[in-house]
Amino acid sequence: MQRITLLGSTGSIGLSTLDVMRRHPQRYAAYALCAHSQIQQLFEQCCEFKPRFAVVRDAVLADQLAALCRSAGLSTEIRHGVDALTEMASAPEVDAVMAAIVGAAGLEPTLAAARAGKKIMLANKEVLVMAGALFMRTIQESGATLLPVDSEHNAIFQALPADFSRGLAACGVERILLTASGGPFREKALEDLRHVTPEQACAHPNWVMGRKISVDSASMMNKGLEVIEAHWLFAAPPEKIQVLVHPQSIIHSAVAYNDGSVLAQMSHPDMRTPIAYALAYPERIVSGAPALDLFKIGRLDFYPPDFERFPCLRLAYDVLRQGGTAPAILNAANEVAVAAFLERKLAFLDISRLIETVLSRLPCRIDSSLDDVLVADAEARQLAHQFVNRRDAA
Ligand code: NAD
Ligand code: MG
Repeated sequence: MQRITLLGSTGSIGLSTLDVMRRHPQRYAAYALCAHSQIQQLFEQCCEFKPRFAVVRDAVLADQLAALCRSAGLSTEIRHGVDALTEMASAPEVDAVMAAIVGAAGLEPTLAAARAGKKIMLANKEVLVMAGALFMRTIQESGATLLPVDSEHNAIFQALPADFSRGLAACGVERILLTASGGPFREKALEDLRHVTPEQACAHPNWVMGRKISVDSASMMNKGLEVIEAHWLFAAPPEKIQVLVHPQSIIHSAVAYNDGSVLAQMSHPDMRTPIAYALAYPERIVSGAPALDLFKIGRLDFYPPDFERFPCLRLAYDVLRQGGTAPAILNAANEVAVAAFLERKLAFLDISRLIETVLSRLPCRIDSSLDDVLVADAEARQLAHQFVNRRDAA
């Protein structure tokens, strides 16, 4: 029986994780379910999964959730705040942590899980974008196990040999082929992107996801963040990571070897497949995802990405080459820009402009300790907010 802490249990990845766990009650138990503010949903999850702990944002919400749990006769203990997340991610009783908080808020608890040497199933890609060097070093020092949940990275992990950490070149790897659906605006002209709405941006053609990653997919920043994620997970130099637009989202990524072989992983665009892989690794378990019928799929298409219409992708390669705190600055500016876009305070095309402005105004520190990363994150957010407020006033 594996006892699991789920960071972000009420989100899209959280719900898919619980759906896989529910199919295997003899293998997985919830130790802690952690969410932000959706207490009704968290309460329902507590009723079903009976975790030892549940965590919410603040004391007021914690009291409300505790009252609900008491009235239902549950013994789940309720905690709140960042310290509680960190405690749940590193508690000695915990075997595995699903890191599925969205954005920078997930950094400290996920880092705590790494320090504690846990098995970490990583969906929260912003952790690696902000603090990749530090996070990977921590994993190595503690002996933690890192399993990628992001579908592309999970596919690459499946297509690499088990001992890939001895170096991609030594394994005969020539390139990593990172696939992208192209998002909802793949075929829109630059001019038509000017007036797109949050609803249009969140209507992804293949995947149902949280709002932040949906906007990232529409701007292709998601693929940019994933290039950085792949760099850290697989020690892949940026020039060895090639993005391919593949609108059907059936091939989730591939690895090209020096003998001419390309190994790809295929499945329906359903996050339960990579989640089940990470949960059961190195075994395989039923995930609930439907079987793939290649006759029905019929064809698979591939196109090069358009760096002009999707400048966020170019910016991500730029910050990866720059190194240090540059990716943390990009990530923070992007989080502020996406939130402003979702609140209709910023136009879609201004997302990349804002990030570029913030990157050009802030110094990039090459040594990136946790403090450096947190300072860069705070400075970038502050500057990005100023930019949004000026736009708002204009
Ligand atoms: P979501 O918005 O649906 O869910 C986010 C979860 O995090 C919620 O449970 C929310 O309560 C919690 N949360 C948010 N802010 C928090 C805070 N400050 N403190 C504590 N908890 C907080 O997001 P999602 O789509 O599930 O994505 C989660 C992560 O997984 C993101 O980093 C995303 O990039 C990554 N990811 C998602 C998908 C997908 O299909 N949804 C695929 C690959 C990677
Ligand atoms: Mg992905």
